[in-house]
Amino acid sequence: MTIAEEAGAVAAQKSPVRTRAVIIGSGFSGLGMAIALQKQGFGFEDFVILEKADDIGGTWRDNTYPGCACDIPSHMYSFSFEPKPDWTHMWSLQPEIFDYLKGVAEKYGLRRYIRFNSRVERATWDDVEMRWHVFTADGQEYVAQFLVSGAGALHIPLIPEIEGADEFAGAAFHSAQWDHSVDITGKRVAVIGTGASAIQLVPEIVKDVAELQVYQRTPPWVMPRPNNALPEWVRRTFTEVPGTRAAMRVAIYWLHEVVGFGMTKQPELLRIGALLGKWNIRRSVKDKALRRKLTPDYRAGCKRILNSDTYYRGIANPKTQVITERITRMTRDGIVTADGVEHPVDVVVFATGFHVTDSYSYVDVTGPGGEDLVDRWNREGVEAHRGVAVADMPNLFFLLGPNTGLGHNSVVFMIEAQIRYVAQAIAAVDKARAQAVAPTRAAQDAFNGDLQDGLAKTVWNTGGCRSWYLDSHGVNRVLWSGMTWQYWLATRRFKRDEYRFIGR
Ligand code: NAP
Repeated sequence: MTIAEEAGAVAAQKSPVRTRAVIIGSGFSGLGMAIALQKQGFGFEDFVILEKADDIGGTWRDNTYPGCACDIPSHMYSFSFEPKPDWTHMWSLQPEIFDYLKGVAEKYGLRRYIRFNSRVERATWDDVEMRWHVFTADGQEYVAQFLVSGAGALHIPLIPEIEGADEFAGAAFHSAQWDHSVDITGKRVAVIGTGASAIQLVPEIVKDVAELQVYQRTPPWVMPRPNNALPEWVRRTFTEVPGTRAAMRVAIYWLHEVVGFGMTKQPELLRIGALLGKWNIRRSVKDKALRRKLTPDYRAGCKRILNSDTYYRGIANPKTQVITERITRMTRDGIVTADGVEHPVDVVVFATGFHVTDSYSYVDVTGPGGEDLVDRWNREGVEAHRGVAVADMPNLFFLLGPNTGLGHNSVVFMIEAQIRYVAQAIAAVDKARAQAVAPTRAAQDAFNGDLQDGLAKTVWNTGGCRSWYLDSHGVNRVLWSGMTWQYWLATRRFKRDEYRFIGR
């Protein structure tokens, strides 16, 4: 670029947008936070939502693979303050959840706060001004007192590096980036991975393809789950009979907490899950060798427990082949496994999950004194105070941050606890007539010490598997260690003595 061009580019750049709060992302977290700020009296000028894509919805916008659904019942996997009595299924499909979020955004007039196609790349704290300077990929700068990340941890697709993948002549895409322009009808399709996404898409696509190869590295535990459309009378009851919908939500909540008790306190109880999982295999798969291949050798719950009535039927379909040999490379025509066999395919679907324990590196955060948060977390492990705020990083909040994911209940419950907590933190700053707030190291260390002690006894640490809940040092940085009501209690009140107020 010449100097003149550079000067022109700088002049063309828009001036910084000044606001009180920047929210990153417009999924459940971002929208929920926006509503909380509205309720707290934040006006139109007072916050913006920066969304990398061209629509709202986060996970429920991105994941459009066939059969995509939620594995937590919808009456629980929705905002408590925005109930929807007429969910069509107990476990709703992606389009309905996406529509639900669009309805919420509409109702609260949230679209006007959102800057679409605004991918946040870096954020820098100005020590003097005591403001975050947030930069998006298009060069726009936002200056804000508070920065709230609602990006979550399951938004960066993980595509394994496979030698020769570039040579593959067919179509290849990740489950969260489903290429709807590719017609799989009558094709030979490979699905790599057998996690939450794969078990939903396998039984759907097997109907259309000519041949389905399922590459399984570790078999999942899959519980039986009938998910027929809810009859009209049930939906009418939830809509018209007071208390029924709320009662259903309470029942779902406590049923899942019982599973959570097994996972966090009594992993022995999860033997029941293993029995159910084995029965689920047995009733659909007659071939004993295949049953053995599909049966996990680790405790149920160590990896996410999945549920489906159709997965094993899809696996038992004569068109399906389960391949457990390690993938060594790809060629122009297909996939080569460690036994030297080349499996010809037309389409490869990577149902290989997401960058999770390193997902925080999606944005470069530089705090006071130029401290790089990503460097700190790479060095010390990803930790936050109560999973939300970070020691010595003023006015920075994460929704579904470190150790606040769940293996057993609705993350929307966690998000609601967190947005309430962040709203309280912001109110506390205003009340103290301060500029900023950050948790003390001591408070954060004490919280995380207890958390890791609690995790030591859980099925995720003791269940004999290697899951994406664990970072490269084998430390669980993803899941909450206890029951969700315990997290609700832990975040119910913002405790001022755990924080340092700055710029009073
Ligand atoms: P996932 O559960 O992490 O599954 C990834 C799969 O890919 C695993 O079977 C994994 O095997 C396999 N894999 C990864 N790298 C591989 C490689 N290099 N070679 C061969 N296999 C490889 O990912 P996901 O299915 O996308 O789900 C991720 C998370 O999203 C879920 O746990 C859940 O939290 C969420 N999700 C939720 C829903 C819902 O209904 N609410 C639906 C879909 C997803 P290993 O097990 O051996 O690592």
